[in-house]
Amino acid sequence: MHQCYYCDQLFGSKEELYDHVEVHSDIERNKEIMDRKKESTKNRGQSPD
Ligand SMILES: [Zn+2]
Repeated sequence: MHQCYYCDQLFGSKEELYDHVEVHSDIERNKEIMDRKKESTKNRGQSPD
C-alpha cells in the first residue's frame, strides 16, 4: 500500500500514487498563483483609511 502524503488516500502501486500526486502539485501551483492574485486584489481593495 502506498499512501498519499497530501490527502492520505491509499494506492495499490507506486505508479498510481505518483500519478495521483501530480494532481496535488498542480493544485499547489494553482493555489500559489491564486494566492498571489488574491493578495494583489486584497491590497487593491483595502483603502488605507
Ligand atoms: Zn492525494
